[in-house]
Amino acid sequence: MATAISGPRVLLRQLRETMAEPLASQARLDKIVTLIAQNMHADVCSFYVLRDDGALELFATRGLAESAVHLTTLRLGEGLVGIIAKQAEPLSLENAPAHPAFAYRPETGEDPFLAFLGVPVLRAGQTLGVLVVQNREAHLYGEDEIEAMLTTATLLAEMMSTADFDALIKPGQDIELRRPRTFHGTGFTDGVALGQVVLHDPRVVVTNFVAEDTEAEQVRMRAALDQMRLSIDDMLSHGDMVASSDHREILESYRMFAHDRGWVDRLTEAIENGLTAEAAVERVQNDTRARMMRSTDPYIKDRLHDLDDLANRLLRVLTGDGNAMGHKDLPENAILIARNMGPAELLEYDRTRLRAVVLEEGASISHVAIIAKSLGLVAVGQAENAVALSESGDDIIVDGATGQVHLRPTADMIQVYVDKVRLTAKRRAHYLELKDRPSVTRDGVAVTLFHNSGIVADLPMLRDTGAAGVGLFRTELQFMIASRLPRLKEQVELYAEAIRLTEGKPIVFRLLDIGGDKVIPYLRSEAEENPAMGFRSLRLALDRQGLLRIQIRALLQAANGGPMKILVPMVTDAWEFRQTRLVVNREVERLVHEGRPVPSRLELGAMIEVPSLLWELDHVLPEADFVSIGSNDLVMFLTAADRGNKRVAKSYDPIALPRLRALKHIVDMSRRYNVPLTMCGELAGRPIEALALMSIGMTRLSMSPPSVGPIKEMVLGTELMPIRNSVSAALLEGAHGPDIRQLLLEWVERQGLVI
Ligand code: PEP
Ligand code: MG
Repeated sequence: MATAISGPRVLLRQLRETMAEPLASQARLDKIVTLIAQNMHADVCSFYVLRDDGALELFATRGLAESAVHLTTLRLGEGLVGIIAKQAEPLSLENAPAHPAFAYRPETGEDPFLAFLGVPVLRAGQTLGVLVVQNREAHLYGEDEIEAMLTTATLLAEMMSTADFDALIKPGQDIELRRPRTFHGTGFTDGVALGQVVLHDPRVVVTNFVAEDTEAEQVRMRAALDQMRLSIDDMLSHGDMVASSDHREILESYRMFAHDRGWVDRLTEAIENGLTAEAAVERVQNDTRARMMRSTDPYIKDRLHDLDDLANRLLRVLTGDGNAMGHKDLPENAILIARNMGPAELLEYDRTRLRAVVLEEGASISHVAIIAKSLGLVAVGQAENAVALSESGDDIIVDGATGQVHLRPTADMIQVYVDKVRLTAKRRAHYLELKDRPSVTRDGVAVTLFHNSGIVADLPMLRDTGAAGVGLFRTELQFMIASRLPRLKEQVELYAEAIRLTEGKPIVFRLLDIGGDKVIPYLRSEAEENPAMGFRSLRLALDRQGLLRIQIRALLQAANGGPMKILVPMVTDAWEFRQTRLVVNREVERLVHEGRPVPSRLELGAMIEVPSLLWELDHVLPEADFVSIGSNDLVMFLTAADRGNKRVAKSYDPIALPRLRALKHIVDMSRRYNVPLTMCGELAGRPIEALALMSIGMTRLSMSPPSVGPIKEMVLGTELMPIRNSVSAALLEGAHGPDIRQLLLEWVERQGLVI
């Protein structure tokens, strides 16, 4: 038996030539299996393709009965071929028919062949088929031969995605590669979107698989690895690139993998077998994915993401494809798919073409989700594996209500959703009808609804929702989109425009709240262990007062003699609020000095989102003109559960008794001091949560614009007093009080509310 050490390179070259030859599809595949058999000195070479119905169909063979082609099938897990497909691992046997799982198919004439080697044909770690070689005499195929077969399989996987291959598929059937898939994620926003996949961080598509000059490819690989390692080291040594410890941790693990001998050895070996450097990266990443995907350990899954990113990074270096973000040519109905992204990255896309965002990670109150909401996008998170299984341009449906994402949907599925979209449009029309009705419960409690906003272009939506104004304008979003710090004049223009677009309704401008996941690229910050609790927001503003002064100056000028409401974020103690007031006062004096108009009514409010402030309300409330609860941060800090971390963010119900008691304390205290109180965290935009807030006496709720309709409908249908009474009783019941959510759901049912 000849070894296959020098074989693969020759074989790959022959295969490439065959692919370019003007042959009919089946003839080409037949020639390919023949070449593989010859090169491997095998009596048989067969290629099985995994169909979308889970059957492995014999697509071509050299050595088995040709009449069995497109006839013989095995189920996933059935027979040796089925096991290889299922486990996505090679299998080498000295005497195949003696194996307990051997499934004899008489039509193939397979019985005389003893030696057996099968390898999975993989793409993005998913099995697409199985490639088998067999010999009459008993013998065990060795490591080199397995390696050679895996390398060949990489090429076959690529071939399967070409149009040429489509001709081999029977009408009415499809192959696994193009199978429709459904991901069960978590909906961040309601609504349905149909469109085409745009990968936020597209995989680099490898087109050249077969090396002309193996030594040259090894040199390219070494150079690319060096360059990549250097760039990772570089990133790690620059404070501004590692704004969060998460980043640092990821980069550290990249560095670890980039120096991992095993990984580098596998890359070298794949090139040795005739692949180009790019194809070697793809080949090795495929195997690694297949192995790691079967793990349920979240740590391994995270490392898999790291390895995917690293492989993509290496491919970019090799192909010189530095920026593959694809922001330029968005299709009409773009649906963005990403592992995760920051809010600023989302804002970089052309919003007029974007319909939805699908993330593999993310939590519903992460800032990217909040921004998606405020842009009116459909958003789903925690859609595991969505990136790896999607291809740019694939059809996709995103259902925010159920959290389901349908990739490459069937015609039936599309029809279901076309109907659903019609229904959503109807519902929207219904909400539009409600917009002028006063927002009052059935028993006469007025509940004022406001928008959360952060982008000037959102503001005209006030007309459609009929909201009373803007309860929270997150000014930092403008800073995040800009490439440099907006100057005074630019800020004045922006705030003036926002005031103009709210058409006389009140608007609350929140001072810059940066830090945590809201990173401003041009404001350098040092790496911190816990950025959410670090040098951020008001702390940063009071420390670098230049920024704060300019922003307050801009706001006061933008008011142009009209009213102005300014909200101070992340107030941790009364002293900080007082300091901010001093800056505001100084800027008012400056206005007077310059002879500019002073706001007709200037109000300064404090955000209550740091738990410590709950025990300083006696000091803050007498000094504040209004207060606003930021439940996103408040609940995060109360529960010590990161709002952006999917593993913990959902662990604690924000309206369970301990949190509701804290909120009730704020309600009681602000009533005692007669200070208007608004809720501007995401809680206010969810019907059951909003009902919980109303039941403890909150009557001013600020939310993302698409939530206004559903919340208003809930308000209009509610008889609040009995609910208030039963929640009040529950709050007094001590540690073992009832489940508030359950209690509210029962009320919803009893009152026949549609939520
Ligand atoms: C909050 O924390 O609830 C809030 C409204 O502010 P942000 O989400 O911008 O941190
Ligand atoms: Mg906050």
